[in-house]
Amino acid sequence: MLLEQSIANYLSLQPYEYINTETAEDGKQRLLHLKSTKETEDVQCPFCSGHVHICGNYSMRLRDMPVYPGTRQDVEANYHRYRCQKCLRTFSEEIPFKYPQTRITERAASWISSFLRFNIPITTVQKITGVHWDTVKHLHKEVMAEAIAERKKELAKNGYRPKHLAVDEFAIHKGHKYATCVMDLDEGDVLWVGKGRTKADFSRFFQEIDMNYLSEVEAVAMDMNASYNLLVTEHLPKAKIVYDRYHMQAQFAKDVLGVVRLEEARKHSAQARKMDEEGFSKAEVKAEKRLYSEVKGARWILLAGRDSLSEEKSAALMKILDDHADLSLCHAMKEEMSRLFDLRDALEARTGWKAWFEGAKASGIPALVRFAELKEKRIDGLVAHASHPISTGKLEGFNNRIKVAKRIGYGYRDEDYFFSLIQYFSISSVKYKSPKKT
Ligand SMILES: [Zn+2]
Repeated sequence: MLLEQSIANYLSLQPYEYINTETAEDGKQRLLHLKSTKETEDVQCPFCSGHVHICGNYSMRLRDMPVYPGTRQDVEANYHRYRCQKCLRTFSEEIPFKYPQTRITERAASWISSFLRFNIPITTVQKITGVHWDTVKHLHKEVMAEAIAERKKELAKNGYRPKHLAVDEFAIHKGHKYATCVMDLDEGDVLWVGKGRTKADFSRFFQEIDMNYLSEVEAVAMDMNASYNLLVTEHLPKAKIVYDRYHMQAQFAKDVLGVVRLEEARKHSAQARKMDEEGFSKAEVKAEKRLYSEVKGARWILLAGRDSLSEEKSAALMKILDDHADLSLCHAMKEEMSRLFDLRDALEARTGWKAWFEGAKASGIPALVRFAELKEKRIDGLVAHASHPISTGKLEGFNNRIKVAKRIGYGYRDEDYFFSLIQYFSISSVKYKSPKKT
């Protein structure tokens, strides 16, 4: 029979012999019985090379590849346990067609791995093959490690060295668990992912990476609020620190524009209350209350770039700015900050940032003064953006991919697995063939 013949071929190099096949009545399950034919004289003790004798016969059931879709095939392999006559230790005979650290056959493993190489979601692979989640995950880890090593080899072959890096944190679970991620901005490869976001957590990057690979790094983009800069200066003294414009602008929006806007709104609301008490007309109180709502609701138009506003919104913005001097000043500072980040001349940028900080500190607006005092020390990293206009934006964009990785893998339950997924999905050859939706 063809099938038995193929099993014989499959096992031809093994000291195993095919006995029979048990088929369930509905034909959906097959169990192949195989028996070890190894001669005891050919076995040596792995500890002392002494002679052995059989001290037990056992069997192990392995999941095999099904012959027809929708069916299941298992292999029951009989094997021996031996005792050494010299050192008396016991050991089991290896089953050569068993895939290491799993309960599946070699050929089932390569079947499953081929699905995984095409980035078929792991839950789908599990459904198709009926193999346990842990086993599929184990194989997936191997497929990914292989691809990551392959990628490293490919880059090393051309003597490649990244010139621009980005480092940033991201949340694993909403808000309470973080990881730190380092990306090669030139190629888009994630070089490293590690648990936590402290300085100590990030220091592991420099311990784990081949420093020679980083020998040509010119600039590293990062959030200025993190303490990454200290370690980068220590380990990559030639690299420039570039503070990420998006983090800086977002913080300005929140800590300055947001605070001043709410402060102005609060003034209107207090004024309306006072007018009410002092017997102003209903219409006058109502007008004051409308001002309160306008300012409170102006978050978006204050943050938006002028070009993106409609005529109507633009007029609303002008009105608010005309009526509120502090807001108007902060809004102008926001626009100027954006312009400074667009500069590509370091000297011009330094002059510009200096003027920006002086202006901010002289404004008398507490939130703006505080912001300027905090950031002024970091001026070098802001100026560096002119010569190295890099940001952590690419890494942030990669966050979406991380979300897909989470869906495909439920990977965050096993952090090492999840971190491998992130690295794996950053490889360009993987990026373009992975499914967008699962
Ligand atoms: Zn022995």
